[in-house]
Amino acid sequence: MPLPSHAQVVIVGGGIAGCSTAYHLAKLGRTEILLLEQGRLTCGTTWHAAGLVGQMRPNRNMTRMSKYGIELYATLEAETGLATGWKQCGSVNVARTPERVQMFAKQLAMAQSFGVECHEIAPKEAGERFPGLRTEDLRSALWLPHDGKVNPTDLCMSLAKGARNRGVKIVEGVEVTGLLVERGRAVGVTTREGDVRCEVVVNCAGQWARQFGRLSGVNVPLFPAEHFYIVTERIEGIHPMVPVMRDPDGLIYYKEEVGGLVMGGFELEAKPWKVDPIPATFQFQLLDEDWDQFEILMRNAIHRTPCLETAQVKMLLNGPESFTPDGNFILGEAPEVRGYFVCAGFNSSGIANSGGAGRLVAEWIVGGEPSTDLWDVDIRRFGGFTANRRALAARTGETLGLHYAMRWPRQELESARPLRTSPLYDLLGARGAEFGSKNGWERANYFRPPGASRPQPTLGTPGWLPWIVDEQQATREAVAIYDQTSFGKLLLQGRDALAVLQRLCANDMDVPVDRIVYTPMLNARGGVESDVTVTRLAADRFLIVTGSAQPTRDLDWIGRHVGDGEHATLTDVSAATCVLSVMGPRSRELLARVSPDDLSAQSLRFSWTREIDVGFARVRAARMSYVGGLGFELYVPVEMTRHVYLALVDAGGDLGLRDGGYYTLDALRIEQGRRAWGAELGPDETPWQAGLMASVALDKAGGFLGRDALLAARGEVLAKKLVTLVFEGDAYAWGGETILLDGMPVGDITSAGWSRTTGSCVALGYVRGDHANRVHAGTDAAIDLWGARVPVRLHDRWRLVGSAY
Ligand SMILES: Cc1cc2nc3c(=O)[nH]c(=O)nc-3n(C[C@H](O)[C@H](O)[C@H](O)COP(=O)(O)OP(=O)(O)OC[C@H]3O[C@@H](n4cnc5c(N)ncnc54)[C@H](O)[C@@H]3O)c2cc1C
Repeated sequence: MPLPSHAQVVIVGGGIAGCSTAYHLAKLGRTEILLLEQGRLTCGTTWHAAGLVGQMRPNRNMTRMSKYGIELYATLEAETGLATGWKQCGSVNVARTPERVQMFAKQLAMAQSFGVECHEIAPKEAGERFPGLRTEDLRSALWLPHDGKVNPTDLCMSLAKGARNRGVKIVEGVEVTGLLVERGRAVGVTTREGDVRCEVVVNCAGQWARQFGRLSGVNVPLFPAEHFYIVTERIEGIHPMVPVMRDPDGLIYYKEEVGGLVMGGFELEAKPWKVDPIPATFQFQLLDEDWDQFEILMRNAIHRTPCLETAQVKMLLNGPESFTPDGNFILGEAPEVRGYFVCAGFNSSGIANSGGAGRLVAEWIVGGEPSTDLWDVDIRRFGGFTANRRALAARTGETLGLHYAMRWPRQELESARPLRTSPLYDLLGARGAEFGSKNGWERANYFRPPGASRPQPTLGTPGWLPWIVDEQQATREAVAIYDQTSFGKLLLQGRDALAVLQRLCANDMDVPVDRIVYTPMLNARGGVESDVTVTRLAADRFLIVTGSAQPTRDLDWIGRHVGDGEHATLTDVSAATCVLSVMGPRSRELLARVSPDDLSAQSLRFSWTREIDVGFARVRAARMSYVGGLGFELYVPVEMTRHVYLALVDAGGDLGLRDGGYYTLDALRIEQGRRAWGAELGPDETPWQAGLMASVALDKAGGFLGRDALLAARGEVLAKKLVTLVFEGDAYAWGGETILLDGMPVGDITSAGWSRTTGSCVALGYVRGDHANRVHAGTDAAIDLWGARVPVRLHDRWRLVGSAY
């Protein structure tokens, strides 16, 4: 079929992601959509998927997405006339270990909060639902009646038919060989059959998405792994409505197929498929059997379902599937090229999730921005450094196993580390730092006392708690240093820099030089796209400091709002400057010992900054504190950071100076009611809901992005409201727990930490719906903590600790 010379949207890849994106774009009214597939539809990974479809995802928005997918799969046949193989057979998840039982209890509470039907059932009932299940070593099970399974090829073809019916043109046998880019925008694709000009390109190229992205400098960090399941001949008692069954402790799953079983799983050490580039001719192909790699899964499966010992195995299927560095898929407009979208990297859940993901990316294309908070899957969570193939392969070896592995709270991934380090990395390591990784940066989570070993992971009270209590004490009563070098730092400079910031920031940015302003940046819905501190370095120069995870995102957000004619350049300077936060009531005394400059409260007021001497170095001192109380953030050139740190340490011994880590920082900022972007703040939360209006200059001359939405919502009933919760007992919470009022789920905890001040956990969380407007200080509530009810009390004060600026 000849190619058109023009289309509005060109979709690259005819697997389930491409077909779903095409279907939803057409449904949203887009015309002239062209889908190009190098082989035949489904020929990549889609054709050999197992077809399990579950609803529960780790957060509310993603669960909503999966639920939508199920509704779509259940109704698509009626629309297109093509069967999808959808069977709502339900799913049974079984737990063998006590910790897994606790995890299930949390999932149950979350499911109830997210509106997903889910029941705890006894192992015996699990055995009745799934014939042949060994149950005597099981402790509990969950039953999700609305989960199911599909035939992936049929589903994909049905989506393609739905798309064609709505006018989408699908052309097979055409490889897209390149991208046409003009002035930073995608304007077309190249193929051997000729070029096609377009306004939007969507990379739905599955495991090829990384190499296809690279053709035009777009980073799509994914890497394939070999992925396995067996298919058996018929087994007595196995019928089409046998539920999907997952045994995460055994790393395995099952579903019925033609009266037999499909059994596969997620081994802890996966096998990256190191072929680079992946040939375009890899169509309807599989990889060689590898029974050694599959052995752990087979052994566990024979234990769980002894019938497999004698069942006839038709085949061991080995097909490659792509995995990403954090195990979440990749959606959205690439920061490198405007009009270039990605929908790929499905980590072995593309069949279940493409229905919803295709809709989300279509909404993003049509609406110009995501319709809801998609940060977990947003392509902008990845910095350019994640393109490294050796690191990707190593990480894929780890992330495949995350599906079913026991995920301990605050568990860190281990592969491809350490990568981004501050100059203090070795020094802090020698002083007992236990590092975690954020956006590739190694950051001290806490400091082990000499001789102490790293505590075992737990769902209960962590072994490191006494150590972070000591760090808290030093911060509140003496002085502590935190290495916060991983902050994102962006420099905006130029004649129109102020005008850009005034338009984007909700606070007033027209302040004197050396003044620091904390401000949210809002989207048109009034949601918080980012929250940053901005220092005015000169009339036309601003340093924007953002969270460690967000520089790529914020660079993109700010960059796309600089008008064509405006004179304002934005540069990521994150790695040029380190940040040492010197926090605590004796911080001024400590700095006075290493600096001749006057840092008194009158000379350097809160929210002001100045260049000072420290030791032999020049640094920028900012009167700022994320943890509350007196404190200075020192912005230090990278090459002088070791010197400055050692000068502070030398001077501070008798002041009770300690190193502090991120677990302490987090607990202290929760205690202070400081909201964190990605937890309390995001594109779906407005300053009204988050209690952030003190940082919004509603009457600013000229207005700002999001102001109309805020004005429209003024005085309105809140859809949700952020509250502080103080635990009544000594239970340890981690975040993500369900908040209960009168036993009913009314919201979720966004952040939790231990407070030395209250001698208990403290948390921030959203109460939703009618309850948001009814809760008040002193309201007694409860938390579902691993299935147990833990009493908490709501507070109206954000700061639980007095703050002496
Ligand atoms: C063993 C196994 C079991 C699985 N089981 C499940 C399951 O039970 N449930 C579940 O949800 N998921 C499962 N998955 C995962 C699921 O199969 C994938 O996530 C999903 O198929 C990915 O779809 P896709 O459209 O992104 O990729 P693909 O299906 O690979 O589609 C990408 C397409 O792009 C085409 N293409 C690439 N480059 C170009 C180019 N330059 N020009 C034109 N075309 C191009 C390719 O030919 C390919 O057809 C499983 C995967 C495996 C391997």
